[in-house]
Amino acid sequence: MKQLKCLICGMNINDNGYDLNNDSFIEKNEKGRIINCPFCGVGKMYLDCEKEIYKVENKSLDIQSLQVLDHAMKLEIFNGEFYEEASQLAKGDKAKKIFKELSNIEFMHAKIHKRLGGFENLPKLHKPDYTRYNTDKLLFEEAYKREEHAILFYKKNSDKVSSNIIKDVFNALSDVEKQHETITNERASIA
Ligand SMILES: [Zn+2]
Repeated sequence: MKQLKCLICGMNINDNGYDLNNDSFIEKNEKGRIINCPFCGVGKMYLDCEKEIYKVENKSLDIQSLQVLDHAMKLEIFNGEFYEEASQLAKGDKAKKIFKELSNIEFMHAKIHKRLGGFENLPKLHKPDYTRYNTDKLLFEEAYKREEHAILFYKKNSDKVSSNIIKDVFNALSDVEKQHETITNERASIA
């Protein structure tokens, strides 16, 4: 198989890691049939062997676009840290695994925004106490709200960025969050 690359996160994809984070997808990757980037979750239209990855000249970005990217990076870190914590707090093994995988994906989204904005570091955020979410149901309900919020964020802010490349990336990531929204909603109803 030719080396596939994700045009959004830049990661190389091969047959060994094809099933990474598979519980974060509605339709899962199979050996020889990769339909999601295992690292950032975007769909197969963004996976290619030859094309260049999505890049912007961040020095030429206007302040508003940079502010939106900074905000997006923080939102993804905030959610990534919540999922990391949720994977510790969850009681069920499947729930733990799903939260861990969602955390991997959201942290990768933060790194995408970091690269696009040309930011030096990922931010250190204040971590709230999440122990009040003391059942898997409460954790999945909170997860669902966060996904809803993230989708809305990308929708609202897409108009505020000047670059079409960034708009495309927001759209691709928002589609990933829509899958998360469906999965967390489903899990909240059965937990
Ligand atoms: Zn990717």
